[in-house]
Amino acid sequence: MRRRDFLKASAVTAGASLIDGCKEPEPEYIVQMVRPTGQLPGEPVWRPGVCRQCSAGCGIQVRVIDGNAKKVEGNEAHPVNLGGVCALGHSVLQELYNPDRLLQAQRSGGSRGDGSFEPMAWDDAMAQAVEAIGSASPEGIAIIAGDRSGFTGALWSRLADAMGAPPPAFLEPPEMAVERLASRIALGVDDYPYFDLARAETVLSIGAPLLDRWRSPVHYTRAFAEMRRGRATRRGRLLQAEARMSLTAANADEWLPLVPGSEGTFARAVAGLLMAGGAADAQAVRRYRVLFPADPPSPADAADACDVSEERIRKVAEELGGDGALVVGGGSAAAHSNGLYNVVAALGLNVLLGNLGRPGGVFAPASFGLARGLAPSQAGETPIAEVAARLRGEGTAVDVLIVADADPLHDMPAGWGRADLLSGAGTVIALSSFRNDTALQADLILPLATELERFEAAEPTTSVGVPALGVAQPVVDPVGDGVHPAEIVLALADGLGDDVASRFPWRNFQAVVTARVEDELASLPGGAGATAASYLRDAADNGGIFADGEPRGTPPGPSGPAPEATDALVEGSADEYAFVLLPFESIKAGEGRGSNRPWLQEHPDPLSTVMWNSWVEISPADAERLGVHEADLLRVSSPSGSVEAHAVLDPAVRPGVISMPLGFGYRDYGRYAEGRGANVLDLMGSTQVEGTSTLARAATRVRVERLGTGELVRFGRSYEDRGENEEIPVGWAPHEPTRPREARV
Ligand code: SF4
Repeated sequence: MRRRDFLKASAVTAGASLIDGCKEPEPEYIVQMVRPTGQLPGEPVWRPGVCRQCSAGCGIQVRVIDGNAKKVEGNEAHPVNLGGVCALGHSVLQELYNPDRLLQAQRSGGSRGDGSFEPMAWDDAMAQAVEAIGSASPEGIAIIAGDRSGFTGALWSRLADAMGAPPPAFLEPPEMAVERLASRIALGVDDYPYFDLARAETVLSIGAPLLDRWRSPVHYTRAFAEMRRGRATRRGRLLQAEARMSLTAANADEWLPLVPGSEGTFARAVAGLLMAGGAADAQAVRRYRVLFPADPPSPADAADACDVSEERIRKVAEELGGDGALVVGGGSAAAHSNGLYNVVAALGLNVLLGNLGRPGGVFAPASFGLARGLAPSQAGETPIAEVAARLRGEGTAVDVLIVADADPLHDMPAGWGRADLLSGAGTVIALSSFRNDTALQADLILPLATELERFEAAEPTTSVGVPALGVAQPVVDPVGDGVHPAEIVLALADGLGDDVASRFPWRNFQAVVTARVEDELASLPGGAGATAASYLRDAADNGGIFADGEPRGTPPGPSGPAPEATDALVEGSADEYAFVLLPFESIKAGEGRGSNRPWLQEHPDPLSTVMWNSWVEISPADAERLGVHEADLLRVSSPSGSVEAHAVLDPAVRPGVISMPLGFGYRDYGRYAEGRGANVLDLMGSTQVEGTSTLARAATRVRVERLGTGELVRFGRSYEDRGENEEIPVGWAPHEPTRPREARV
């Protein structure tokens, strides 16, 4: 069977049970009524799956009754999550059965962005996509994909190469690119390393929101619990250094609320104390000097720059000087214009501590590398900022834009001209299970299957110290025509002529994975003597291929000098824009993928306890100055735009700083997300992290105006609701209640 026939057959089979349902819009969640043969009515079965709701790639088990997926739990065998699942992972059921899911391909029936679409047959949609791509000049093609790592990312790179088009751009939280580059400089590894939190005694996290939505949240939350409670006689300590009180900071033993952008200075001062105090041996100091030949700032100078007392900086160095110390860097520290310097300075502390490749220390990222053989050997990637520039008319025009499982029109900053970025683009093809801000402006939407409806194989983007590849057969029958994005890559290649098709000699995605497993079988755990097909079948039964044992792999160490220390740049003058804006990912919305699900909208943010909306965190001191009370409606304006959102007064907020969650303010992402809250990216300009092509998401000043009273749905009590004699003993700088409360940013 040829590949396009296979896809057609899949689509017809998948759509058969939905034909009736498609006659009228389904007002409620989709319900599957297919019962696999051999299963009694009402009998539950658990089927292994791979969660693709974020790049962590956790293993899951799905409870299926009468063909319906009912419940998600973690796969205990998968080393990423060891049986845990986060709220976003649980909510995949509400992606699968979401009433706003696109079950068929759609073509625009009007002008761009007016929201009129009409369903079309899968074959016609693919033919239209192939026609548009095939008739464009190769250099006029642009690809934006949401999955940078793994098979799908590699297949997009291969397709771009085969077409002669520029390499794809990958849309990911921009801090991840900064963290990767910093890892290369500070530790000599090509990807973000593994931090052995569970076996550490003292962990200093500089900006990394280990327990929030960051890289591998389930893994690091479990590792944190192990560090704290998993050992009979020792309780590890977590010190969190960042400007905002994140969920991680709230759970830390110490929170050091640094001035935003001063994280690198703080890390360098700690390094100076470690060297002066003899906590680092001569060889470690020599290696560290490769990164930072110059002397570090004095603790007094650092205290002034960071607005944290010298005593506290000394105490941190003293704690790190003991056994089993580990430093994690990234997250908000990477989001400033000097973010690369900050993260290199943070990670470089591990070189001084001599913990590379040691239990409780830092390990080189571990991977089976199965996808590596698919991408062209010199495959690069196009910075997402460069695609935005092309779309604005700078450089080669975009004749065809392919956006795969990503929503750049929601996730790019306003400063890149996002509002009418697609007005000059040629054909826009979106691969998406939903209409979102980007798909709304597409000419063609090709629906995707969720990970529960398709064969899946995914390596975690963030290493957990041992190689792992999640593998799963479909857990339920597909509820629409959607397929895996990799199948669409293969189908496009198939239609684009022999020159392109010959580079893709596989019938479907499963054949791609089987071929790569076959190539590497001898080196895979238990692979010797097996056939690729039987090996993959066993892997799918277990939920994946997992290496045993402890983390291995010692990072080689610094690969060159760190970037120069600079002050963090912030767009907007302090006179006109009094506040620095810190965006963050709440565990309820993350970057926004889960915003179209009522479970997550209903989920109270753990710190603000806000539900069903976004909010502005502001200090009581600033609120008083502006006459702002709890839940008042505020207008927040920057040089790039303005949004409206409700106030949450929080004594843990540093005066002169406000914070807002990402993941809200969609123009179109279904009934639960559309128009709900504000998109904080509407405020952001175009400042990049120095030494990278990456957006600095914490480089914007804003003005705050009170518009009037308002209402917020909250699970807990607000700051103003506290009782008469009820003190809230949390100053913005804990343990330093007498420090002045003026703004230091
Ligand atoms: S951390 Fe990511 S991959 Fe793991 S369960 Fe949550 S959403 Fe899924």
